[in-house]
Amino acid sequence: MTNKILVTGGAGYIGSHTCIALHETGYEVVVYDNLSNSSREAINRVSTLIGQTIEFIEGDIRDAEMLRQVFTSREFFGVIHFAGLKAVGESVAKPLLYYNNNVSGTINLLEVMAEYNIKNLVFSSSATVYGDPESLPIDENSPRSCTNPYGQSKLTVEHILEDLAVSDDSWNLVALRYFNPVGAHSSGQIGEDPNDIPNNLMPYISQVAVGKLKKLSIFGDDYPTIDGTGVRDFIHVTDLAQGHVSALNYLEQLTSSRSPSDMAKSVGFLPINLGTGKGTSVLELVNAFTEVTGRDIPHQFTGRRAGDIASCYASADKAKTLLGWQAELSIADMCQDTWRWQSQNPSGYNSH
Ligand code: NAD
Ligand code: UDP
Repeated sequence: MTNKILVTGGAGYIGSHTCIALHETGYEVVVYDNLSNSSREAINRVSTLIGQTIEFIEGDIRDAEMLRQVFTSREFFGVIHFAGLKAVGESVAKPLLYYNNNVSGTINLLEVMAEYNIKNLVFSSSATVYGDPESLPIDENSPRSCTNPYGQSKLTVEHILEDLAVSDDSWNLVALRYFNPVGAHSSGQIGEDPNDIPNNLMPYISQVAVGKLKKLSIFGDDYPTIDGTGVRDFIHVTDLAQGHVSALNYLEQLTSSRSPSDMAKSVGFLPINLGTGKGTSVLELVNAFTEVTGRDIPHQFTGRRAGDIASCYASADKAKTLLGWQAELSIADMCQDTWRWQSQNPSGYNSH
């Protein structure tokens, strides 16, 4: 069986870390990315870290011809599909762009995969599909709802994958629902590199720490949480990357042990949370960052951000039981590694 994996969006934040984890486990990686939110430098650094040039194809998932070329000349075990746009605010301003890129792009990818009989997919979903959760921790059977086009695009893709699995039971479609990915590779060589002023908490904190931004605004101090600030399940990107490897291992075991009479035993559509199972408040994260790095994070409390929920953390049991995966790294590791990346690369991949 081939161990080659097509990684769409592999030049991005989570994709680049996952390429390293895949390589370390013996998978062969081909990255397909249109560089709309990433740079070649990320791929160069991944290649340096693994001591081998990563095969990189610059292309768009909406370009069927280009995808066909990729599938014609190579034999893949499956696809890890990170490619997508992810900024909630931008998705409200440009819904058609988001549906086109994230939904039409995924349909296109699935159609080409079907043409080449590649039926193993690991898809980047998000805890955002749970909307405002009715109960905590959130397990995979919790109701789903979304309030913005970005979330809706993820939920729509999940529905498409579910329908596809019903229509044809040879598909193995794993939707990994990420909670809040933070941190960077322990080398400090790759990490999150937002284009503009960050929307997310951890990159905002680290840019305040490095002096690029003056002050963190904490959105809300009156939530029904431990200290009034929002609670999230922050997960180290290295743990998250490992979760993808575990998902692929699971599919490999399943498909290699299957006799022809077992053909109906595909996973179909399989949603799995990737989180730590622990909630951390915004203020707790700010304080942990200061404690670990010695950097003060000037902050002010402002009103709640529209669309935010009070608390969100995963039940991580399914990933443990089914994939044998659990998060290992602590909040201190997340702060330490974020700071190493940020302080060594104050302007991200354009720093050197
Ligand atoms: P990222 O923007 O760093 O990576 C996405 C990559 O996809 C980029 O390199 C971008 O250039 C590429 N891309 C976008 N549209 C493309 C297209 N049409 N064709 C080819 N390449 C394309 O984002 P990330 O944080 O690494 O997220 C990866 C995936 O995980 C995304 O689908 C995102 O929605 C999802 N996700 C991210 C988070 C998070 O907080 N970072 C949380 C939940 C889910
Ligand atoms: N947050 C904040 N200030 C910021 C960015 C985020 O107080 O500049 C808070 C936000 O209100 C939420 C938490 O940090 O409670 C995580 O937000 P983020 O945007 O990182 O992830 P989300 O869970 O919203 O996807």
